[in-house]
Amino acid sequence: MLPSLEHLLVLQDRDRRIASLKAETARIPQEIAAVLKRVQDESARLEAAKFQLKQIEADRKKLEIDADGKRTQINKYLIQLNQIKSNTEYQALLKEINNAEQEIVHLEDVELELMEKNEQLQPLLKQEQVQLKEISANGEAEQAELKHRAQTAEQELAQLQREREALVAQADADVLARYDRLMKSKSDFAIVPILHGNCGGCHLNLPPQVVHNAKNGGDVVSCDYCGRILYCQAQ
Ligand SMILES: [Zn+2]
Repeated sequence: MLPSLEHLLVLQDRDRRIASLKAETARIPQEIAAVLKRVQDESARLEAAKFQLKQIEADRKKLEIDADGKRTQINKYLIQLNQIKSNTEYQALLKEINNAEQEIVHLEDVELELMEKNEQLQPLLKQEQVQLKEISANGEAEQAELKHRAQTAEQELAQLQREREALVAQADADVLARYDRLMKSKSDFAIVPILHGNCGGCHLNLPPQVVHNAKNGGDVVSCDYCGRILYCQAQ
């Protein structure tokens, strides 16, 4: 194989690793955002459970105040009852007292229901608290891992770039220009092997003359169909 082609193969290997590392590092911020979102979502679920419990407690307190109000009212009625002379008024007031007592029973029933609801929600609250702790801890570990990966990738990338620069400095200017153009337009491979008489890039069957020229190694040979530079793998 032409030394310039061997050189290009090394350059292509570095370029492909650079591209894949860049793609990997480009994904990292999104992955970190996804981790943060998981923590935020769980935190929101916990807040919602807390809010629900708070609401229940507020409703229960209000019922208690209402019931207390009714009790005070009944006490007032009882005092009035002693001062009433007319039987009709007396009966009417008794009815009021009875109504108020019924309302207190109803308020206490609803209050009991709320207390039961509160008890049912307590395990859910605990569960959300445990989950948030777990998700936060996992999230921090994942974030640390992702940041570490970004750092390592950055170092690898710098090393590969240095290697690339050295390879470029040694490369044949014409072949390099051809390589760069192909890399830009194909965005996968600029130099490909001949595989069973086919181009390793576009997979089309190559004329025997082209295969022969590539095998001979006298000049840089390109695929007529896709333009990629061809080389023969050592048999
Ligand atoms: Zn081709």
